[in-house]
Amino acid sequence: MTDLTRLSAADLGGVIARGEASAVEATSAHLDRIAAVDDRLHAFLHVSAERALGCARSVDARRAAGERLGPLAGVPLALKDVFVQRGVPTTCGSRILDGWRPPYDATVVRRLEGAGVVVLGKTNMDEFAMGSSTENSAYGPTFNPWALDRVPGGSSGGSAAAVAAFEAPLGIGTDTGGSIRQPAAVCGLVGAKPTYGGVSRYGLVAFSSSLDQAGPLTRTVLDAALLHEVIGGHDPLDSTSIDAPVPALSAAVGQGVDGLRIGVVREFTGDGYAPGVRSRFAEAVAVLESLGAEVVEVSCPHFDYALPAYYLIAPSECSSNLARFDGMRYGLRQGDDGTASVEEVMAATRAAGFGAEVKRRIILGTYALSSGYYDAYYGQAQKVRTLIIRDFDAAFESVDVLVSPTTPTTAFRIGERADDPLAMYLADLCTIPSDLSGGAALSVPCGLAPEDGLPVGFQVMAPAMADERMYRVAGALEAELDGRRGHPLLEEAPAL
Ligand code: GLN
Repeated sequence: MTDLTRLSAADLGGVIARGEASAVEATSAHLDRIAAVDDRLHAFLHVSAERALGCARSVDARRAAGERLGPLAGVPLALKDVFVQRGVPTTCGSRILDGWRPPYDATVVRRLEGAGVVVLGKTNMDEFAMGSSTENSAYGPTFNPWALDRVPGGSSGGSAAAVAAFEAPLGIGTDTGGSIRQPAAVCGLVGAKPTYGGVSRYGLVAFSSSLDQAGPLTRTVLDAALLHEVIGGHDPLDSTSIDAPVPALSAAVGQGVDGLRIGVVREFTGDGYAPGVRSRFAEAVAVLESLGAEVVEVSCPHFDYALPAYYLIAPSECSSNLARFDGMRYGLRQGDDGTASVEEVMAATRAAGFGAEVKRRIILGTYALSSGYYDAYYGQAQKVRTLIIRDFDAAFESVDVLVSPTTPTTAFRIGERADDPLAMYLADLCTIPSDLSGGAALSVPCGLAPEDGLPVGFQVMAPAMADERMYRVAGALEAELDGRRGHPLLEEAPAL
């Protein structure tokens, strides 16, 4: 019998729908894979085996009763530990939430379960999604399945590693500054950040509310589109949710790029990029041109200021959002010996519960928002954000999508940037503009860098509410590259 863990989600869904395997068998195969490899990867913080098997049994029962189920029914998924799931430990990679079990389900979780997708467990992440390597998790790092001495990217590194290592065909991450696309790029996966408001944030623990967006991590473009269709759509429980139907995404995957106008972002080419990133990116652009796309260079001059603007806006919002972790409401409580004041307990809890990067951001954000500095820092950053949105608007008058490398380098070594926040922040140089604008963006594999044999990601950016365009481009590129040299991830994950 075929190894169920090696199939794409779409194929596995087909196998289950045709009765060639049950949802329980598919779930068990992936739980076995987790048991076999996760001690070397550390992708999961919590595996919900019983709950997952129960969900799979109910999919099999619904199907046996003649119910028509969607294309992903019975397919297992790895969920970033930033979503609440009733009764299941949710830590956000932080000590401060140790022991907390949420009393409700995130909308994303409800939609997944409604579609019969089987949630296997919660995956590791940088604490409160702050980081680019998953090294900021209070529970220890996750390792890249391509090379175990390298990072899987972050902050959604656990979900990315799980999907790349065949522990699950589907993963969910969140992207505030690049945390879906960057791990996708360095793990050889497809990762999509939907238009802001396209996927509900209800039950997604907030880092930076005006930027946070959930999306798929998968091994194929079609799988990403199918998962996006399941989790997307209006939610009255999220006041920033877009009240419009989800565009036809899976249908866009095979549409080709003939006549599509593609703009290469001038600011994201040149010297700061690893040689293999540059060569694979240039090759992918040439492939799209050979498929009938019109390629031009486009300048977005304010993209150079996206990173500094982000590192004022995101910490400002986080300093406010994380105020709720006070030792009173959730998880950890320190120093409550019956004599300490409320303030002393809060201070002791936050000192013990938050890691260094989270503290750095809370302090930075509190400073940027304080009276006297607000206009100089936060206010300026918001003005830069507007200029970046205008760059996108101007570019999208002459092109349909923008493209760039997803990251300047391939996966870096564990520890290499851990003590150098600025070097770490650079991993998101190319991904941050789309978060600031609210537009859609995706990373699709475009080959391995010749110098280290590690995956390179190709980023496609589309206007807000035109998410289907990024699936069109990624689908065409994937089909052509797979035809030429095979899919990089359909074999064994190289390091396991
Ligand atoms: N690496 C960026 C940061 O540390 C982005 C994180 C994210 O997208 N959640 O803030």
